[in-house]
Amino acid sequence: MKAAVVKALGEPLVIEERPDPVPGPGQVRIRVEACGLCHTDIHAARGDWPVRPVPPFVPGHEGVGIIEELGDGVTHLSVGRRVAVPWLGWACGRCEHCLSGWETLCEKQINTGYGVDGGYAEKMLAHADFAQPVPDGIDPRDAAPLTCAGVTTYKALKVAEVGPADLVAVSGVGGLGHLAVQYAKIAGATVAAIDVSDEKLRLAADLGADILIDARKEDPAEVLQRYGGAHAALALAVNEESFATALAGLRRGGKLVMVALPAEGTVEVPVFSTVLGGKSVIGSIVGTRQDLAELFQLHAAGRTRVVYETRPLSSVNECIDEVLEGRVEARIVFET
Ligand code: NAD
Ligand code: ZN
Ligand code: ZN
Repeated sequence: MKAAVVKALGEPLVIEERPDPVPGPGQVRIRVEACGLCHTDIHAARGDWPVRPVPPFVPGHEGVGIIEELGDGVTHLSVGRRVAVPWLGWACGRCEHCLSGWETLCEKQINTGYGVDGGYAEKMLAHADFAQPVPDGIDPRDAAPLTCAGVTTYKALKVAEVGPADLVAVSGVGGLGHLAVQYAKIAGATVAAIDVSDEKLRLAADLGADILIDARKEDPAEVLQRYGGAHAALALAVNEESFATALAGLRRGGKLVMVALPAEGTVEVPVFSTVLGGKSVIGSIVGTRQDLAELFQLHAAGRTRVVYETRPLSSVNECIDEVLEGRVEARIVFET
């Protein structure tokens, strides 16, 4: 099988021929149909974060495909079933986080395309308990971006406890943001979309955003304050400064949900206005299996639209450049 491999951090990926992986106990082997290119994969390949992945590894945590072999002990899935393999590749099921519905915080978790090989390949392995069945009728190319961009923003809005009378700022209308706009609208909120590209702002408007803010031309915090300030702001842009701007755009009691992970990012949180304004700064990491099941149902019911363009895996390095240059409408999906 072919796989796109990070051989050294910061170097272009290499397309390699590898033997088909063999599922161990509790695992399944999947013939990958589609895998999205999440900005996280770029951070992974460059070694941007304090906990670095160890090359060689295969990125990709939006892999969707058909099960073709079951490892020992797998009884709840069958060959031929379509599943999605998210970032949360495995969690222990026993710790305080797993037991309290926060498996995404499990200290023992294994991350797909980071700690183990992911979906930039024709075949991949997954732990059966974390391979999410994709409902019939969902196109695998839609399911792929939902598997990370979808679950992450769906969860971020839950964390922000967004209600129908709220103003929600979505800072960064990329792969994650184009779905965040839709989930915020489904929650009934008024949505202010912030980006630095005409195309992305146009897309946000198409997807239902009520207020469009071009951060190149105006200060998003000032615009948000003209509307009384945001009840919640989702920081989805790979840009350190945009976090502080989103924080400054909150109203009293507002919540900043930090989701994007710019390399070595820090935010200055002013004590006075945060304390007197009763503001929250919250980190949010992907979502649980239950969150993913919920948003797959929303999509199957026709309530969300995934915007993607398909590419062959062989173009992986050009695709990464396109994402970094902001030339992708929302998501690239590799077809394998
Ligand atoms: P993306 O490149 O598709 O989207 C980023 C968007 O931000 C683009 O539309 C870009 O034009 C916009 N942008 C750039 N500068 C901006 C600014 N100053 N103000 C407003 N918008 C600006 O990336 P993505 O795949 O959506 O991922 C976004 C980030 O989220 C990445 O850092 C990724 O690693 C992270 N991420 C986090 C989680 C999590 O669970 N916390 C999950 C997935 C991805
Ligand atoms: Zn991701
Ligand atoms: Zn655990």
